[in-house]
Amino acid sequence: MLSRGLNGFSGFQSVESVQSVAKTLTTIIIFLLVMDGCHGKDKVAEKDDPEPGVGRTLATERAESIEGLSYDLAFTIPATPSDPINGKATIRFTTKDVTHPLVLDFSPGADHIASVSVGGRPSHVRLVKDHIIIPNTELASDDNLVEIAFRAGDASLNRSADFMYTLFVPARAHLAFPCFDQPDLKARFALELTVPADWQAVSNGTETFHENVGNGIRIRYAETQPIPTYLFAFAAGKFQVESAERGGRWYRMFHRETDAKKVERNRKAVFDLHASSLEWLEKYTGIPYRFGKFDFVLIPSFQFGGMEHPGSIFYNEARILLEESATETQMLNRAETIAHETAHMWFGDLVTMKWFNDVWMKEVMAQFMAAKIVDPAFPNVNHDLRFLVGHYPSAYSVDRTSGTHPIRQDLANLDEAGSLYGAIIYDKAPIVVRQLEQLLGPDRLQEGLRVYLKQFQFGNATWLDLVRILGMQTKLDLAAWSHAWVEEAGRPSIRIAMDGGHLAFVQSDPQPGRSLRWTERMDVLLGTGQTITSLPVELASERTEVPLPPHSFSPQFVLPTGGGLAYGDFTLDDATRSFLLRNLPDLKDPLTRGAAWVTLWEEMLDRRVQPLDFVSLAMVALEREDTEQNVRLTLSYVDDAFWKFLPDSARRQIAPKLENALRTGMDRATSSTLKSTYFNAFRSTVTTPDGVAFLERIWRRQEKIPGLILSEPDEAGMALDLSVRSAPAAAAILEEQRTRFMNPDRKARFEFVMPALSERQETRDEWFAKLSNVENRRREPWVIEGLRYLHHPLRAAQSEKYLRSGLELLREIQRTGAVFFPRDWMDATLSGHNTRTAAATVRAFLSSQKDYPIRLHRIILQSADELFRAAETGGN
Ligand SMILES: [Zn+2]
Repeated sequence: MLSRGLNGFSGFQSVESVQSVAKTLTTIIIFLLVMDGCHGKDKVAEKDDPEPGVGRTLATERAESIEGLSYDLAFTIPATPSDPINGKATIRFTTKDVTHPLVLDFSPGADHIASVSVGGRPSHVRLVKDHIIIPNTELASDDNLVEIAFRAGDASLNRSADFMYTLFVPARAHLAFPCFDQPDLKARFALELTVPADWQAVSNGTETFHENVGNGIRIRYAETQPIPTYLFAFAAGKFQVESAERGGRWYRMFHRETDAKKVERNRKAVFDLHASSLEWLEKYTGIPYRFGKFDFVLIPSFQFGGMEHPGSIFYNEARILLEESATETQMLNRAETIAHETAHMWFGDLVTMKWFNDVWMKEVMAQFMAAKIVDPAFPNVNHDLRFLVGHYPSAYSVDRTSGTHPIRQDLANLDEAGSLYGAIIYDKAPIVVRQLEQLLGPDRLQEGLRVYLKQFQFGNATWLDLVRILGMQTKLDLAAWSHAWVEEAGRPSIRIAMDGGHLAFVQSDPQPGRSLRWTERMDVLLGTGQTITSLPVELASERTEVPLPPHSFSPQFVLPTGGGLAYGDFTLDDATRSFLLRNLPDLKDPLTRGAAWVTLWEEMLDRRVQPLDFVSLAMVALEREDTEQNVRLTLSYVDDAFWKFLPDSARRQIAPKLENALRTGMDRATSSTLKSTYFNAFRSTVTTPDGVAFLERIWRRQEKIPGLILSEPDEAGMALDLSVRSAPAAAAILEEQRTRFMNPDRKARFEFVMPALSERQETRDEWFAKLSNVENRRREPWVIEGLRYLHHPLRAAQSEKYLRSGLELLREIQRTGAVFFPRDWMDATLSGHNTRTAAATVRAFLSSQKDYPIRLHRIILQSADELFRAAETGGN
């Protein structure tokens, strides 16, 4: 850490000379270090210095004192990505606090700073990790002007040979330029870009000025509305620009697609979708679009589906420009992506969360709006079933575990913002917000959202601000509702009881000593003979009783989740359970069947349904199931049950029947996606010699499945699946597959994974040992694939010995890897295991750790949940 004033080195430099200054800067700093040493000054960082990253205390102090913030930024972007981008930042603000030093965020370090001046005079700044500290004596009690000449850090600039784009979410702007990098210091951004003459550029603001300079062009952009740093953006490079007018507004699309036909094919739909989304949102919110012009940029291999920079949305190109063969699902996904990002112009951009602990809120509101905007245009899709299958299994997979966490989590430093993301935010939060709409009614929710957007426009708000506003629309205690659903972890346990014409729902809190009560709306289905009655129930207190309707006085089954709304750990009554185990496939409504599968799976995990009964029922059901969503759901449960919950003997007994059912499904499937769903399930569960031989013939291209197109990655997967089953020619198969590859990246990936499947234990030992070196973990998806085969259920007995080391590596995995790597690592490590000894290894590891990071502790408990349950069933 450098803690150093730039004394004697100051005076403002023009952008053009920054580069030369930067070169000499390192020398000067070393010189100053030596000088300071001579004077015997304290070189240690001061104890009040801010922590690295953007800590909550620092952010809170700054938000309270800084006002009227604006940035005027200039960047000179050379064509060659390795050449430095020089920049100049002019930052204006007032501050209420002149008794403390001013802390700016900037990560690239001292050798990236050419000069700093405050109020036109050289500043005696100090640099600590991630920050520039300006002495309070230099601050004015009214207007302040800080000017910094710097070399931009490249970490968040995504530079390639002929284009670059910024991606500053959640707090990565300060990796590039000096700023206050927190969501609640909104600022007006003015920008000047100098780029190569044959480049295009786009940013949040309107282009106001354009001139040739040397061998480049200089472009100025008008000052934006107040926006946070994470929404400030620009892209520059070789782009094509398409524009279109819709409803009196001009839209521009920047893209790099060279296939003109493809662009032409998609063009109209893409502009239409933006215009209709925008119009819908203006009507719904009662607030016109507030960010002036509307451009969007299609970026190949963009990190996310899209990013909602106002005036300049960035998209993953592949999601927007579809192939001619695009499926209805792909078109639906595209429409949702566009509606989602457009909805962010209000939810997230106009009103922004105060702190990233509420990032879930903008995501869930954007998704919620997107569904409202898009669903009616796709009447052939069963949207309720799609919502159920898309959210409930995944939300439960975390929320049922002892590693679960609240939707709203603490976040001490924006450095850790990435760790908030996961199934609770993506899958539970949308379920909870849908519940909110059920409780309030759509009109009151809309009214509340309008008040909220209007009251906080161009500002910031928290989830609790929204709860307070919505609370005024209803008699319900929304604060208590929010406490249970959003601020606490877990789900209610709900038991169903029937007595004398009454139906009772009894809820309890699975977490000892907490006694939480959840309020929720359930659409309970009652089955009598041929009729199914829907009974709306509002679960509120510990025991909720409702009279049974006269005609369904003695129902054959009571399915509280049947309408696809209820959320919790349900214990069915015995009659319902045995009814479903006999008659689930006869239920007419696909949504009811989907909900019944989700509920039965939870019952199986809680050991009220035998795994073998579950799988047997699934095989019968698959013969008749015609809804693709339900086939997918059922097959994923079957796969999990087969490998993890069936004892070896049962697995052997059922295997021929299961393989037969899957092959029949493959033959019968009418769509190619359904065929490949069946084929992948077969590939994953095949164990009989006949089945393996069939798979091998397919891989050898000796036999074909009519209508199923197998790609290079499919063949590679088959070769690996054959190999882990120790097919007679395993080694030869791997070798032949290696020579088949046309794509060098896929070949390299295959070669990386191959040793994890070796029949030689020593080769597998060596492969695993290599993973302790971070250099061998750079390609994270490769590592995960290899790890899954290393720990494959068929190899579990030999790979149990790797468990402890795998657990021990987790802290380092988190330190060196991307956001989702720790959970993926743990899942891949534990997914193949189901024995008591494996469970004991995990428990022993957890109890041996002192001061283990809580988020990692939770990840282990999440990933180990099924292992713990399977080990308890005692089948192994
Ligand atoms: Zn979003």
